[in-house]
Amino acid sequence: MVGHFFHRSIPNPNEFYSMARSRIFEKYQNEWKTDTAIFSSLDSYIKFKPNHGLEDYLSVAMDKRHLNALSRFRLHSHRLAIEMGRHVDLNREQRLCVYCNAEQIEDEVHFLLVCELYEELRRPLFPFIIGLNTHDAFVFLLHSTAPNIIRLVAKFVYLAFIKRSKV
Ligand SMILES: [Zn+2]
Repeated sequence: MVGHFFHRSIPNPNEFYSMARSRIFEKYQNEWKTDTAIFSSLDSYIKFKPNHGLEDYLSVAMDKRHLNALSRFRLHSHRLAIEMGRHVDLNREQRLCVYCNAEQIEDEVHFLLVCELYEELRRPLFPFIIGLNTHDAFVFLLHSTAPNIIRLVAKFVYLAFIKRSKV
């Protein structure tokens, strides 16, 4: 009886894996919908690629710390003012970056592409986004399936968050 009880209370690995996988997928789909709402100007991109499967970046071999930083960035699990302000009910337009003089909202776009604090760290990304406006560059970098670009973005996010934490 005891054995039976244990057997039932611990999910079998296959079941657990399949449950975790569908939870991650669900979370990702919700995230994708949120992104879609935020970047409403990206209609053409959305039409071109209406839905996403599991995230490609998860299968790219890279430094675990970089992957962790990228996941947190993508899931809005970070300390940028856009998120921190949400927790203290600060109006969106008041969630400004205090690390530069741009007087812009410190959101993911500002962090990845605009903030002067990370200018040096951002250099490796430049060749891929020359000629693109900020929103197009953001979409390109975050939705690229090319492993080299995914690695560069992950490394940037990792190093930039460290730099930010030391200011
Ligand atoms: Zn800034």
